[in-house]
Amino acid sequence: MRIDQSVINEIKEKTDILDVVSEYVKLEKRGRNYIGLCPFHDEKTPSFTVSEDKQICHCFGCKKGGNVFQFIQEIKDIPFQEAVKELGERVNIQVNVPTGSESSSHQIASDDLQMIEMHELMQSYYHYALLKTVEGEEALNYLKSRGFTEEIIEKRKIGFAPDHPQFCHDFLQKKGYDIELAYEAGLLARNEESFNYYDRFRNRIMFPLKNAQGRTVGYSGRTYTNQEPKYLNSPETPIFHKRRLLYNLDQARRSIRKSDEIYLLEGFMDVIKSDQAGLSPVVATMGTELSQEHSTVIRKLTNNVTLLYDGDEAGQNASLKTGQRLLEQGFNIFVIKLPNNMDPDDYIKTHGEEAFTQFVAREKKSFVTYKINLHKDEILHNDLAYEKYLKEITQDISYMSSSILRKKVLQEAAELFKVNSDSLNRSVNQYSRFEPSHDSDVRIAPDFGRLNKYERAEVSLLKHFTRDKDTFLNYQQKLEVEDFSNNYFKHIFDVLRNFYAENDVFKLSDVLQYVESDELKEAFMALDNYMLNDMPYEQELEDYINILLANKQDDSIDILKHRLQEASRLNDLELQKYYLEKIKKYYQNTKL
Ligand SMILES: [Zn+2]
Repeated sequence: MRIDQSVINEIKEKTDILDVVSEYVKLEKRGRNYIGLCPFHDEKTPSFTVSEDKQICHCFGCKKGGNVFQFIQEIKDIPFQEAVKELGERVNIQVNVPTGSESSSHQIASDDLQMIEMHELMQSYYHYALLKTVEGEEALNYLKSRGFTEEIIEKRKIGFAPDHPQFCHDFLQKKGYDIELAYEAGLLARNEESFNYYDRFRNRIMFPLKNAQGRTVGYSGRTYTNQEPKYLNSPETPIFHKRRLLYNLDQARRSIRKSDEIYLLEGFMDVIKSDQAGLSPVVATMGTELSQEHSTVIRKLTNNVTLLYDGDEAGQNASLKTGQRLLEQGFNIFVIKLPNNMDPDDYIKTHGEEAFTQFVAREKKSFVTYKINLHKDEILHNDLAYEKYLKEITQDISYMSSSILRKKVLQEAAELFKVNSDSLNRSVNQYSRFEPSHDSDVRIAPDFGRLNKYERAEVSLLKHFTRDKDTFLNYQQKLEVEDFSNNYFKHIFDVLRNFYAENDVFKLSDVLQYVESDELKEAFMALDNYMLNDMPYEQELEDYINILLANKQDDSIDILKHRLQEASRLNDLELQKYYLEKIKKYYQNTKL
Protein backbone atom coordinates (compact mmCIF):
# COMPACT_ATOMS: atom_id res chain seq x y z
CA MET A 1 0.00 0.00 0.00
CA ARG A 2 1.31 3.42 -0.94
CA ILE A 3 0.45 6.89 0.22
CA ASP A 4 -1.65 8.59 -2.41
CA GLN A 5 0.53 10.64 -4.77
CA SER A 6 -1.86 13.60 -4.58
CA VAL A 7 -1.40 13.72 -0.81
CA ILE A 8 2.37 13.67 -1.22
CA ASN A 9 2.16 16.46 -3.77
CA GLU A 10 -0.06 18.58 -1.57
CA ILE A 11 2.31 18.28 1.36
CA LYS A 12 5.19 19.17 -0.89
CA GLU A 13 3.37 22.21 -2.25
CA LYS A 14 2.62 23.50 1.21
CA THR A 15 6.06 22.88 2.64
CA ASP A 16 8.97 25.22 2.16
CA ILE A 17 12.26 23.38 2.25
CA LEU A 18 13.94 26.49 3.59
CA ASP A 19 11.76 26.42 6.71
CA VAL A 20 12.37 22.76 7.29
CA VAL A 21 16.13 22.84 6.79
CA SER A 22 16.42 26.00 8.90
CA GLU A 23 15.39 24.01 11.91
CA TYR A 24 18.52 21.96 11.57
CA VAL A 25 21.00 24.27 9.91
CA LYS A 26 21.86 27.90 10.37
CA LEU A 27 21.59 29.26 6.85
CA GLU A 28 22.91 32.37 5.21
CA LYS A 29 21.80 33.79 1.95
CA ARG A 30 24.44 33.55 -0.73
CA GLY A 31 23.27 34.72 -4.15
CA ARG A 32 20.13 32.86 -5.10
CA ASN A 33 20.79 30.08 -2.62
CA TYR A 34 21.21 29.60 1.10
CA ILE A 35 24.30 28.02 2.51
CA GLY A 36 25.27 26.53 5.87
CA LEU A 37 27.28 23.87 7.64
CA CYS A 38 26.24 20.41 6.51
CA PRO A 39 24.19 18.53 9.12
CA PHE A 40 25.36 15.20 7.75
CA HIS A 41 29.11 15.55 8.07
CA ASP A 42 31.59 17.55 10.11
CA GLU A 43 32.98 20.56 8.35
CA LYS A 44 34.27 24.05 9.00
CA THR A 45 33.44 25.62 5.67
CA PRO A 46 29.82 25.52 4.64
CA SER A 47 29.05 23.28 1.70
CA PHE A 48 25.39 22.62 2.35
CA THR A 49 23.21 24.53 -0.07
CA VAL A 50 19.48 25.05 -0.14
CA SER A 51 17.76 26.29 -3.24
CA GLU A 52 14.42 27.89 -2.52
CA ASP A 53 13.50 28.08 -6.21
CA LYS A 54 14.16 24.44 -6.84
CA GLN A 55 13.09 23.26 -3.38
CA ILE A 56 16.12 21.08 -2.99
CA CYS A 57 19.11 20.93 -0.71
CA HIS A 58 22.49 19.43 -1.32
CA CYS A 59 25.91 19.01 0.25
CA PHE A 60 28.88 19.40 -2.06
CA GLY A 61 31.04 17.64 0.49
CA CYS A 62 29.23 14.41 1.31
CA LYS A 63 26.67 14.59 -1.51
CA LYS A 64 23.72 14.09 0.81
CA GLY A 65 20.46 15.92 0.35
CA GLY A 66 17.62 15.95 -2.11
CA ASN A 67 14.07 17.20 -1.83
CA VAL A 68 12.37 17.96 1.45
CA PHE A 69 11.23 14.38 2.03
CA GLN A 70 14.69 13.03 1.41
CA PHE A 71 16.18 15.62 3.75
CA ILE A 72 13.87 14.51 6.57
CA GLN A 73 14.43 10.83 5.78
CA GLU A 74 18.16 11.33 5.98
CA ILE A 75 18.33 13.53 9.04
CA LYS A 76 15.85 11.50 11.08
CA ASP A 77 16.89 8.20 9.61
CA ILE A 78 13.32 7.20 8.87
CA PRO A 79 11.63 5.64 5.85
CA PHE A 80 9.95 7.70 3.17
CA GLN A 81 6.41 7.18 4.42
CA GLU A 82 7.32 8.36 7.90
CA ALA A 83 8.89 11.46 6.42
CA VAL A 84 5.70 12.18 4.49
CA LYS A 85 3.71 11.76 7.68
CA GLU A 86 5.96 14.08 9.66
CA LEU A 87 5.93 16.79 7.08
CA GLY A 88 2.19 16.33 6.72
CA GLU A 89 1.76 17.10 10.40
CA ARG A 90 3.52 20.42 9.94
CA VAL A 91 0.95 21.54 7.41
CA ASN A 92 -2.06 19.85 9.02
CA ILE A 93 -2.43 17.09 6.50
CA GLN A 94 -3.06 13.76 8.10
CA VAL A 95 -1.32 10.83 6.50
CA ASN A 96 -2.19 7.29 7.35
CA VAL A 97 1.02 5.41 7.11
CA PRO A 98 0.11 1.92 6.09
CA THR A 99 1.43 -0.48 8.66
CA GLY A 100 1.68 -4.20 8.58
CA SER A 101 2.65 -6.00 5.43
CA GLU A 102 5.04 -3.38 4.10
CA SER A 103 6.91 -2.51 7.26
CA SER A 104 7.11 -6.07 8.51
CA SER A 105 8.48 -7.21 5.19
CA HIS A 106 11.51 -5.00 5.82
CA GLN A 107 14.59 -6.99 6.53
CA ILE A 108 15.34 -7.72 10.14
CA ALA A 109 16.13 -4.46 11.90
CA SER A 110 19.79 -3.70 12.39
CA ASP A 111 21.33 -4.18 15.82
CA ASP A 112 21.30 -0.45 16.49
CA LEU A 113 17.66 -0.22 15.61
CA GLN A 114 16.83 -3.16 17.83
CA MET A 115 18.67 -1.53 20.72
CA ILE A 116 16.59 1.60 20.24
CA GLU A 117 13.42 -0.47 20.08
CA MET A 118 14.30 -2.14 23.36
CA HIS A 119 14.85 1.24 24.98
CA GLU A 120 11.56 2.54 23.69
CA LEU A 121 9.68 -0.55 24.77
CA MET A 122 11.17 -0.27 28.23
CA GLN A 123 10.31 3.42 28.26
CA SER A 124 6.60 2.61 28.08
CA TYR A 125 6.96 -0.18 30.55
CA TYR A 126 8.89 1.89 33.12
CA HIS A 127 6.45 4.74 32.61
CA TYR A 128 3.58 2.38 33.32
CA ALA A 129 5.33 1.03 36.40
CA LEU A 130 5.68 4.57 37.76
CA LEU A 131 2.10 5.64 37.20
CA LYS A 132 0.06 2.47 37.60
CA THR A 133 1.74 0.14 40.08
CA VAL A 134 1.93 0.00 43.84
CA GLU A 135 5.72 -0.42 43.70
CA GLY A 136 5.96 2.86 41.84
CA GLU A 137 4.00 4.91 44.34
CA GLU A 138 6.88 6.00 46.50
CA ALA A 139 8.91 7.10 43.51
CA LEU A 140 5.93 8.99 42.12
CA ASN A 141 5.37 10.78 45.41
CA TYR A 142 9.03 11.65 45.52
CA LEU A 143 8.86 13.17 42.05
CA LYS A 144 5.77 15.18 42.96
CA SER A 145 7.44 16.49 46.07
CA ARG A 146 10.30 17.69 43.87
CA GLY A 147 8.00 19.73 41.68
CA PHE A 148 7.46 17.25 38.86
CA THR A 149 3.96 17.84 37.58
CA GLU A 150 1.96 15.22 35.71
CA GLU A 151 2.61 17.28 32.62
CA ILE A 152 6.39 16.97 32.99
CA ILE A 153 6.20 13.28 33.77
CA GLU A 154 4.11 12.75 30.65
CA LYS A 155 6.21 14.99 28.40
CA ARG A 156 9.52 13.42 29.46
CA LYS A 157 8.06 9.92 29.74
CA ILE A 158 9.64 9.53 33.14
CA GLY A 159 9.41 6.01 34.52
CA PHE A 160 10.28 3.69 37.35
CA ALA A 161 12.50 0.60 37.42
CA PRO A 162 11.24 -1.63 40.25
CA ASP A 163 13.59 -3.19 42.76
CA HIS A 164 13.76 -6.44 40.86
CA PRO A 165 16.82 -7.94 39.12
CA GLN A 166 14.87 -9.43 36.20
CA PHE A 167 12.16 -6.86 35.46
CA CYS A 168 13.67 -5.61 32.23
CA HIS A 169 15.43 -8.91 31.52
CA ASP A 170 12.24 -10.98 31.54
CA PHE A 171 10.21 -8.42 29.66
CA LEU A 172 12.68 -8.19 26.79
CA GLN A 173 13.14 -11.93 26.71
CA LYS A 174 9.40 -12.42 26.49
CA LYS A 175 9.31 -9.97 23.60
CA GLY A 176 11.83 -12.14 21.81
CA TYR A 177 14.90 -9.93 22.07
CA ASP A 178 18.40 -11.28 22.24
CA ILE A 179 19.55 -10.89 25.85
CA GLU A 180 23.15 -10.46 24.76
CA LEU A 181 22.05 -7.50 22.68
CA ALA A 182 20.14 -6.01 25.62
CA TYR A 183 23.38 -6.22 27.57
CA GLU A 184 25.27 -4.47 24.77
CA ALA A 185 22.56 -1.82 24.75
CA GLY A 186 23.30 -1.11 28.40
CA LEU A 187 19.93 -2.14 29.75
CA LEU A 188 21.31 -5.24 31.45
CA ALA A 189 24.46 -5.86 33.43
CA ARG A 190 26.36 -9.12 33.65
CA ASN A 191 27.96 -11.11 36.41
CA GLU A 192 31.44 -11.70 35.04
CA GLU A 193 31.82 -15.02 36.82
CA SER A 194 28.51 -16.72 36.24
CA PHE A 195 27.71 -14.75 33.07
CA ASN A 196 24.20 -14.22 34.39
CA TYR A 197 22.42 -11.17 33.10
CA TYR A 198 20.42 -8.89 35.35
CA ASP A 199 18.82 -5.43 35.25
CA ARG A 200 21.29 -2.55 35.36
CA PHE A 201 18.65 -0.19 36.72
CA ARG A 202 16.87 -1.23 39.89
CA ASN A 203 14.73 0.82 42.23
CA ARG A 204 15.38 4.01 40.34
CA ILE A 205 13.42 6.79 38.70
CA MET A 206 14.08 6.47 35.01
CA PHE A 207 14.73 9.46 32.77
CA PRO A 208 14.86 8.52 29.07
CA LEU A 209 17.74 10.05 27.13
CA LYS A 210 17.00 10.84 23.52
CA ASN A 211 19.33 11.42 20.65
CA ALA A 212 19.04 14.33 18.23
CA GLN A 213 16.41 12.42 16.27
CA GLY A 214 14.24 12.02 19.34
CA ARG A 215 14.91 8.28 19.68
CA THR A 216 15.51 6.90 23.16
CA VAL A 217 19.08 5.61 23.35
CA GLY A 218 19.82 5.56 27.07
CA TYR A 219 18.63 6.25 30.58
CA SER A 220 19.60 8.18 33.61
CA GLY A 221 18.31 6.39 36.70
CA ARG A 222 17.98 8.62 39.72
CA THR A 223 17.82 7.20 43.19
CA TYR A 224 15.07 8.32 45.54
CA THR A 225 16.35 6.21 48.43
CA ASN A 226 19.92 7.53 48.72
CA GLN A 227 21.55 4.71 46.77
CA GLU A 228 24.94 5.35 45.29
CA PRO A 229 25.42 6.82 42.80
CA LYS A 230 22.76 9.49 42.81
CA TYR A 231 22.44 9.22 39.05
CA LEU A 232 23.21 6.01 37.24
CA ASN A 233 23.62 6.62 33.51
CA SER A 234 23.68 4.16 30.64
CA PRO A 235 27.20 3.15 29.66
CA GLU A 236 28.69 4.03 26.29
CA THR A 237 27.02 1.81 23.72
CA PRO A 238 26.76 1.72 19.94
CA ILE A 239 23.70 3.99 20.23
CA PHE A 240 24.60 6.14 23.24
CA HIS A 241 27.63 8.40 23.02
CA LYS A 242 28.13 10.90 25.81
CA ARG A 243 30.48 12.93 23.66
CA ARG A 244 27.72 13.53 21.20
CA LEU A 245 24.44 13.54 23.05
CA LEU A 246 22.95 16.82 24.19
CA TYR A 247 19.96 16.29 26.42
CA ASN A 248 16.77 17.87 25.00
CA LEU A 249 18.29 18.80 21.65
CA ASP A 250 15.47 17.04 19.81
CA GLN A 251 12.87 19.14 21.60
CA ALA A 252 14.80 22.40 21.72
CA ARG A 253 16.00 22.47 18.15
CA ARG A 254 13.18 24.51 16.76
CA SER A 255 13.33 27.17 19.44
CA ILE A 256 17.12 27.32 19.19
CA ARG A 257 16.84 28.09 15.51
CA LYS A 258 13.98 30.51 16.06
CA SER A 259 15.67 32.51 18.81
CA ASP A 260 19.14 31.98 17.33
CA GLU A 261 20.58 31.10 20.72
CA ILE A 262 21.17 28.13 22.95
CA TYR A 263 21.48 27.78 26.71
CA LEU A 264 23.91 25.26 28.11
CA LEU A 265 22.91 23.96 31.52
CA GLU A 266 24.82 21.78 33.93
CA GLY A 267 22.44 18.87 34.21
CA PHE A 268 19.41 17.43 32.54
CA MET A 269 17.26 18.12 35.64
CA ASP A 270 17.90 21.84 35.17
CA VAL A 271 16.89 21.47 31.55
CA ILE A 272 13.58 19.86 32.47
CA LYS A 273 12.78 22.56 35.00
CA SER A 274 13.92 25.49 32.87
CA ASP A 275 11.96 24.23 29.93
CA GLN A 276 8.89 23.91 32.12
CA ALA A 277 9.44 27.48 33.33
CA GLY A 278 9.29 28.68 29.75
CA LEU A 279 12.94 28.85 28.77
CA SER A 280 12.97 26.41 25.90
CA PRO A 281 16.26 26.55 23.90
CA VAL A 282 18.01 24.64 26.69
CA VAL A 283 20.31 21.60 26.56
CA ALA A 284 22.81 19.84 28.82
CA THR A 285 25.60 17.34 28.38
CA MET A 286 25.28 14.04 30.22
CA GLY A 287 27.79 14.60 32.97
CA THR A 288 30.69 15.28 30.65
CA GLU A 289 32.49 18.40 29.62
CA LEU A 290 31.40 19.99 26.39
CA SER A 291 33.22 18.05 23.68
CA GLN A 292 34.33 19.04 20.23
CA GLU A 293 31.45 16.98 18.85
CA HIS A 294 29.01 18.93 20.97
CA SER A 295 30.26 22.26 19.72
CA THR A 296 30.11 20.99 16.15
CA VAL A 297 26.45 20.16 16.67
CA ILE A 298 25.76 23.55 18.25
CA ARG A 299 27.57 25.54 15.60
CA LYS A 300 25.22 24.21 12.98
CA LEU A 301 22.29 25.68 14.86
CA THR A 302 23.52 28.95 16.29
CA ASN A 303 26.55 31.05 17.16
CA ASN A 304 25.11 32.47 20.39
CA VAL A 305 25.72 30.34 23.45
CA THR A 306 24.69 31.25 26.98
CA LEU A 307 26.12 29.31 29.89
CA LEU A 308 23.64 28.94 32.73
CA TYR A 309 25.52 26.84 35.25
CA ASP A 310 25.14 26.50 39.00
CA GLY A 311 25.95 29.58 41.03
CA ASP A 312 28.50 27.76 43.18
CA GLU A 313 32.24 27.69 42.69
CA ALA A 314 32.23 24.50 40.64
CA GLY A 315 29.68 26.10 38.35
CA GLN A 316 31.80 29.21 38.00
CA ASN A 317 34.89 27.23 37.12
CA ALA A 318 32.95 25.25 34.57
CA SER A 319 31.63 28.49 33.05
CA LEU A 320 35.16 29.86 32.80
CA LYS A 321 36.56 26.74 31.21
CA THR A 322 33.77 26.01 28.75
CA GLY A 323 33.26 29.71 27.97
CA GLN A 324 36.93 30.19 27.19
CA ARG A 325 37.00 27.24 24.82
CA LEU A 326 33.88 28.32 22.97
CA LEU A 327 35.08 31.93 22.80
CA GLU A 328 38.28 30.80 21.13
CA GLN A 329 36.23 28.76 18.70
CA GLY A 330 34.48 31.92 17.56
CA PHE A 331 31.13 31.62 19.37
CA ASN A 332 29.40 34.61 20.95
CA ILE A 333 29.46 33.56 24.59
CA PHE A 334 27.31 34.85 27.40
CA VAL A 335 27.10 33.85 31.03
CA ILE A 336 24.28 34.07 33.53
CA LYS A 337 25.36 33.87 37.12
CA LEU A 338 22.67 32.68 39.48
CA PRO A 339 22.81 34.18 43.00
CA ASN A 340 23.58 32.41 46.27
CA ASN A 341 25.00 29.18 44.90
CA MET A 342 21.64 28.35 43.38
CA ASP A 343 21.08 26.12 40.39
CA PRO A 344 18.16 26.82 38.00
CA ASP A 345 15.96 24.34 39.85
CA ASP A 346 16.62 26.05 43.21
CA TYR A 347 15.95 29.46 41.72
CA ILE A 348 12.64 28.37 40.24
CA LYS A 349 11.62 26.73 43.52
CA THR A 350 12.47 29.83 45.53
CA HIS A 351 11.37 32.63 43.22
CA GLY A 352 8.95 31.03 40.79
CA GLU A 353 9.03 30.41 37.07
CA GLU A 354 8.32 33.93 35.93
CA ALA A 355 11.02 35.44 38.10
CA PHE A 356 13.42 32.89 36.63
CA THR A 357 12.80 33.77 32.98
CA GLN A 358 13.00 37.46 33.87
CA PHE A 359 16.29 36.94 35.65
CA VAL A 360 17.67 35.11 32.64
CA ALA A 361 16.61 37.89 30.30
CA ARG A 362 18.08 40.56 32.56
CA GLU A 363 21.35 39.08 33.69
CA LYS A 364 22.99 37.91 30.51
CA LYS A 365 26.58 39.12 30.43
CA SER A 366 29.12 38.81 27.70
CA PHE A 367 31.64 36.16 28.72
CA VAL A 368 34.58 38.55 28.85
CA THR A 369 32.62 40.97 31.03
CA TYR A 370 31.76 38.08 33.31
CA LYS A 371 35.41 37.13 33.52
CA ILE A 372 36.51 40.68 34.27
CA ASN A 373 33.94 40.99 37.06
CA LEU A 374 34.93 37.67 38.53
CA HIS A 375 38.55 38.80 38.90
CA LYS A 376 37.78 42.42 39.71
CA ASP A 377 39.11 42.33 43.23
CA GLU A 378 42.39 40.75 42.26
CA ILE A 379 42.85 43.16 39.38
CA LEU A 380 42.34 46.14 41.65
CA HIS A 381 44.57 44.99 44.49
CA ASN A 382 47.16 42.58 43.18
CA ASP A 383 49.55 44.07 40.65
CA LEU A 384 50.84 40.72 39.49
CA ALA A 385 47.28 39.61 38.79
CA TYR A 386 46.65 42.97 37.13
CA GLU A 387 49.37 42.31 34.58
CA LYS A 388 48.31 38.73 33.99
CA TYR A 389 44.66 39.58 33.47
CA LEU A 390 45.33 42.63 31.33
CA LYS A 391 47.15 40.39 28.87
CA GLU A 392 44.54 37.69 29.06
CA ILE A 393 41.55 39.98 28.69
CA THR A 394 43.18 41.81 25.79
CA GLN A 395 43.53 38.55 23.98
CA ASP A 396 40.02 37.46 24.90
CA ILE A 397 38.56 40.63 23.44
CA SER A 398 40.39 39.89 20.22
CA TYR A 399 38.50 36.60 19.97
CA MET A 400 35.11 38.27 20.20
CA SER A 401 33.29 37.99 16.93
CA SER A 402 30.67 40.71 17.49
CA SER A 403 32.24 44.12 16.85
CA ILE A 404 29.47 45.84 18.80
CA LEU A 405 30.01 43.80 21.93
CA ARG A 406 33.73 44.05 21.47
CA LYS A 407 33.50 47.85 21.74
CA LYS A 408 31.37 47.65 24.85
CA VAL A 409 33.65 45.20 26.61
CA LEU A 410 36.72 47.18 25.56
CA GLN A 411 35.26 50.22 27.28
CA GLU A 412 34.56 48.26 30.46
CA ALA A 413 38.03 46.77 30.50
CA ALA A 414 39.70 50.13 29.87
CA GLU A 415 37.90 51.59 32.89
CA LEU A 416 38.73 48.72 35.22
CA PHE A 417 42.37 48.48 34.21
CA LYS A 418 42.61 52.27 34.06
CA VAL A 419 44.11 52.31 30.60
CA ASN A 420 43.34 54.46 27.60
CA SER A 421 40.72 52.69 25.50
CA ASP A 422 42.43 53.60 22.21
CA SER A 423 45.68 52.03 23.26
CA LEU A 424 43.84 48.97 24.57
CA ASN A 425 42.11 48.75 21.23
CA ARG A 426 45.48 48.81 19.47
CA SER A 427 46.74 45.95 21.64
CA VAL A 428 43.57 43.99 20.90
CA ASN A 429 44.09 44.49 17.19
CA GLN A 430 47.63 43.18 17.45
CA TYR A 431 46.23 39.97 18.82
CA SER A 432 43.43 39.81 16.36
CA ARG A 433 43.79 36.85 14.21
CA PHE A 434 43.37 37.14 10.56
CA GLU A 435 39.76 36.67 9.67
CA PRO A 436 39.09 32.96 9.51
CA SER A 437 39.46 32.00 5.92
CA HIS A 438 35.89 31.37 4.97
CA ASP A 439 36.72 30.40 1.45
CA SER A 440 33.78 32.13 -0.03
CA ASP A 441 33.88 30.62 -3.45
CA VAL A 442 30.53 28.97 -3.67
CA ARG A 443 31.22 25.52 -4.88
CA ILE A 444 29.42 24.60 -8.00
CA ALA A 445 28.00 21.27 -8.80
CA PRO A 446 30.26 19.17 -10.96
CA ASP A 447 29.54 20.90 -14.22
CA PHE A 448 29.79 18.41 -16.94
CA GLY A 449 32.80 20.32 -18.14
CA ARG A 450 35.08 17.48 -19.10
CA LEU A 451 32.88 15.43 -21.30
CA ASN A 452 33.95 13.89 -24.54
CA LYS A 453 32.10 14.48 -27.77
CA TYR A 454 29.71 11.58 -27.21
CA GLU A 455 28.94 12.49 -23.65
CA ARG A 456 28.25 16.06 -24.68
CA ALA A 457 25.67 14.82 -27.12
CA GLU A 458 24.20 12.60 -24.44
CA VAL A 459 23.90 15.32 -21.83
CA SER A 460 22.44 17.78 -24.34
CA LEU A 461 19.86 15.26 -25.34
CA LEU A 462 18.94 14.56 -21.73
CA LYS A 463 18.75 18.23 -21.01
CA HIS A 464 16.22 18.68 -23.78
CA PHE A 465 14.30 15.74 -22.40
CA THR A 466 14.00 17.47 -19.05
CA ARG A 467 12.57 20.55 -20.72
CA ASP A 468 9.67 18.95 -22.45
CA LYS A 469 7.87 15.68 -22.03
CA ASP A 470 6.77 15.63 -25.70
CA THR A 471 10.36 15.85 -26.85
CA PHE A 472 11.16 12.96 -24.61
CA LEU A 473 8.25 10.88 -25.87
CA ASN A 474 9.16 11.60 -29.49
CA TYR A 475 12.71 10.40 -29.21
CA GLN A 476 12.83 7.89 -26.45
CA GLN A 477 11.74 4.93 -28.57
CA LYS A 478 14.80 5.42 -30.71
CA LEU A 479 17.03 4.94 -27.72
CA GLU A 480 18.05 2.26 -25.29
CA VAL A 481 19.74 2.73 -21.96
CA GLU A 482 22.80 1.04 -23.45
CA ASP A 483 23.06 3.71 -26.14
CA PHE A 484 24.43 6.10 -23.55
CA SER A 485 28.13 5.68 -22.92
CA ASN A 486 28.29 7.59 -19.64
CA ASN A 487 27.07 5.60 -16.69
CA TYR A 488 25.27 8.50 -15.06
CA PHE A 489 23.46 9.27 -18.27
CA LYS A 490 22.32 5.67 -18.59
CA HIS A 491 20.72 5.98 -15.17
CA ILE A 492 19.30 9.42 -15.81
CA PHE A 493 17.64 8.19 -18.98
CA ASP A 494 16.21 5.27 -17.10
CA VAL A 495 14.89 7.47 -14.29
CA LEU A 496 13.34 9.85 -16.82
CA ARG A 497 11.39 6.98 -18.34
CA ASN A 498 9.93 6.09 -14.97
CA PHE A 499 9.34 9.69 -14.08
CA TYR A 500 7.51 10.64 -17.24
CA ALA A 501 5.35 7.55 -16.95
CA GLU A 502 3.77 9.17 -13.91
CA ASN A 503 4.39 12.90 -14.35
CA ASP A 504 3.95 15.50 -17.05
CA VAL A 505 6.35 18.20 -16.05
CA PHE A 506 9.96 17.78 -15.06
CA LYS A 507 10.70 19.34 -11.70
CA LEU A 508 14.02 18.62 -10.09
CA SER A 509 12.56 18.26 -6.60
CA ASP A 510 9.98 15.79 -7.92
CA VAL A 511 12.34 13.71 -9.97
CA LEU A 512 14.68 13.30 -7.02
CA GLN A 513 12.00 11.18 -5.45
CA TYR A 514 12.83 8.59 -8.10
CA VAL A 515 16.51 8.60 -7.19
CA GLU A 516 18.12 6.92 -4.24
CA SER A 517 21.84 7.16 -4.76
CA ASP A 518 23.45 10.41 -3.65
CA GLU A 519 25.75 10.32 -6.63
CA LEU A 520 22.89 10.12 -9.04
CA LYS A 521 21.08 12.94 -7.26
CA GLU A 522 24.18 14.99 -7.76
CA ALA A 523 24.25 14.09 -11.43
CA PHE A 524 20.64 15.23 -11.78
CA MET A 525 21.48 18.53 -10.15
CA ALA A 526 24.42 19.00 -12.44
CA LEU A 527 22.17 18.23 -15.38
CA ASP A 528 19.72 20.79 -14.08
CA ASN A 529 22.49 23.38 -14.06
CA TYR A 530 23.81 22.40 -17.45
CA MET A 531 23.54 25.32 -19.85
CA LEU A 532 22.09 24.87 -23.28
CA ASN A 533 20.53 27.12 -25.86
CA ASP A 534 16.85 27.41 -25.15
CA MET A 535 15.25 25.85 -28.15
CA PRO A 536 16.65 22.93 -30.02
CA TYR A 537 17.51 23.96 -33.55
CA GLU A 538 16.12 21.90 -36.32
CA GLN A 539 17.74 18.52 -36.47
CA GLU A 540 19.65 19.17 -33.26
CA LEU A 541 18.18 16.20 -31.50
CA GLU A 542 18.63 13.96 -34.50
CA ASP A 543 22.26 15.02 -34.61
CA TYR A 544 22.76 14.03 -31.02
CA ILE A 545 21.10 10.71 -31.55
CA ASN A 546 23.29 9.99 -34.55
CA ILE A 547 26.36 10.76 -32.55
CA LEU A 548 25.15 8.40 -29.83
CA LEU A 549 24.52 5.61 -32.27
CA ALA A 550 27.81 6.16 -34.06
CA ASN A 551 29.53 5.83 -30.72
CA LYS A 552 27.77 2.57 -30.19
CA GLN A 553 29.22 1.40 -33.50
CA ASP A 554 32.62 2.64 -32.42
CA ASP A 555 32.25 0.39 -29.50
CA SER A 556 31.47 -2.47 -31.74
CA ILE A 557 34.43 -1.84 -34.06
CA ASP A 558 36.63 -2.53 -31.09
CA ILE A 559 34.74 -5.68 -30.47
CA LEU A 560 35.04 -6.67 -34.12
CA LYS A 561 38.78 -6.09 -34.07
CA HIS A 562 39.06 -8.09 -30.93
CA ARG A 563 37.12 -10.99 -32.42
CA LEU A 564 39.35 -10.84 -35.52
CA GLN A 565 42.41 -11.19 -33.31
CA GLU A 566 40.84 -14.10 -31.53
CA ALA A 567 40.09 -15.75 -34.85
CA SER A 568 43.66 -15.39 -36.10
CA ARG A 569 44.99 -16.72 -32.85
CA LEU A 570 42.81 -19.79 -33.32
CA ASN A 571 43.85 -19.93 -36.98
CA ASP A 572 40.20 -20.00 -37.98
CA LEU A 573 40.42 -18.66 -41.53
CA GLU A 574 36.71 -18.77 -42.11
CA LEU A 575 36.06 -16.60 -39.10
CA GLN A 576 38.89 -14.22 -39.92
CA LYS A 577 37.39 -13.62 -43.32
CA TYR A 578 33.99 -13.01 -41.79
CA TYR A 579 35.23 -10.36 -39.39
CA LEU A 580 37.47 -8.67 -41.94
CA GLU A 581 34.45 -8.29 -44.16
CA LYS A 582 32.46 -6.72 -41.33
CA ILE A 583 35.24 -4.30 -40.45
CA LYS A 584 35.59 -3.23 -44.05
CA LYS A 585 31.88 -2.54 -44.15
CA TYR A 586 32.05 -0.52 -40.99
CA TYR A 587 34.70 1.80 -42.40
CA GLN A 588 32.77 2.21 -45.60
CA ASN A 589 29.73 3.29 -43.60
CA THR A 590 31.51 5.84 -41.53
CA LYS A 591 33.05 7.48 -44.58
CA LEU A 592 29.59 8.41 -45.80
ZN1 LIG B 1 27.78 17.01 3.93
